[in-house]
Amino acid sequence: MPGSDDGRHRPRRTATDIAHAGRDPFAHHGFVNPPVYRGSTVLFRTVESFEKRDQKYVYGRRGTPTSDALEEAIATLEGGARTWLAPSGAAAIATVLLSFTKAGDHILVADSVYLPTRKICDGVLKRFGVETTYYDPTIGADITHLMKANTTLVFTESPGSLTFEMQDIPAIAAAAREGGAITVLDNTWASPLYFKPFAHGVDISIQAATKYIVGHADAMLGAITAGEATARRMLSEAQSMGICAGTEEMYLGLRGFRTIQVRMERHWHSGVEIARWLEQRPEVARVLHPALPSHPGHEIWKRDFLGAAGLFSIILKPCPKQAIAAMLEGLELFGMGASWGGYESLALPFDAKNARSATAWNPEGPTVRLHIGLEDVEDLKADLDAGFARLRATSP
Ligand SMILES: *Cc1c(COP(=O)(O)O)cnc(C)c1O
Repeated sequence: MPGSDDGRHRPRRTATDIAHAGRDPFAHHGFVNPPVYRGSTVLFRTVESFEKRDQKYVYGRRGTPTSDALEEAIATLEGGARTWLAPSGAAAIATVLLSFTKAGDHILVADSVYLPTRKICDGVLKRFGVETTYYDPTIGADITHLMKANTTLVFTESPGSLTFEMQDIPAIAAAAREGGAITVLDNTWASPLYFKPFAHGVDISIQAATKYIVGHADAMLGAITAGEATARRMLSEAQSMGICAGTEEMYLGLRGFRTIQVRMERHWHSGVEIARWLEQRPEVARVLHPALPSHPGHEIWKRDFLGAAGLFSIILKPCPKQAIAAMLEGLELFGMGASWGGYESLALPFDAKNARSATAWNPEGPTVRLHIGLEDVEDLKADLDAGFARLRATSP
């Protein structure tokens, strides 16, 4: 029923894009996937051709058929004009921040932002004379009051990947544009599937492709996607920054990309089911998952997002540190470690207190971030249930 229910119509088109975007089998003798082109030198046939650089590929760093395939696929799904690959999500963030700022500029960065993003702002950007103001991620249109004459960039991340504040991206992007600044979004949580940055006013979208695009915890990769207005500038900056991704990693990104929708649907639905189950547990004070009606950002999620990641946090009722350790260390299916977006479940204790400066983070108890993988939901619940029993046994 096209047009009657966008929830049903849109994924059908997206699914087709995921299978076909960036593919040209008959450029590779009919093989379904492009080969991994390993290369630095690209040869030219004539002096004239070399001087004009008049062929599609000129140097390994400047692109190969493998990078083209993944860049085109990601750009299609994000809805942007062009994508560039970077060696990691952090490298993509640093490249964008360095590309769109200069000495004397002021930028606004969400207080809930991924910690290494904050480190780039407080380190290299500060050293180069760029001033950062951190803002309450839930500020919405009021961000206009923080805009200065020299504000050139507003950095967003929605939801924050530890504390899960939702941002009103359309309102923030409109205020930024009004003040002559560009809006950058770290879109890793939603993946290019569940939030469409360029339909919501964003100028540059960043993916830690390490997470859901690669999807199997086996490669580091980043992606920068620019809209029409910023693509030309990004092209020249990306070239001068020398960013390019490893050939094997690009291939793994492309391989992961082709199954992102079926994986994400499972992460989303299993995540919500376990989040709801956790909300009923006596050991849990609060569940921070934007797809739950109890979340303060739920209305924004419902309005702007097409689905959810398998990543969310819980605030436990106060308990001693050794009780958390007993719970987490005994888990059989949930691993403990950084990163997420692979097929496996993860559970990680965290403390976001020192990762913010504009807003207070005072949870009522210890905090744990969960990534719900592709395992059976009942098995995951049983693993957590046994974990809670250990937690209770270790609490006074
Ligand atoms: C992991 C992550 C990054 C950084 O990606 P890497 O590939 O690990 O460098 C950036 N933003 C968010 C939200 C992330 O979760």
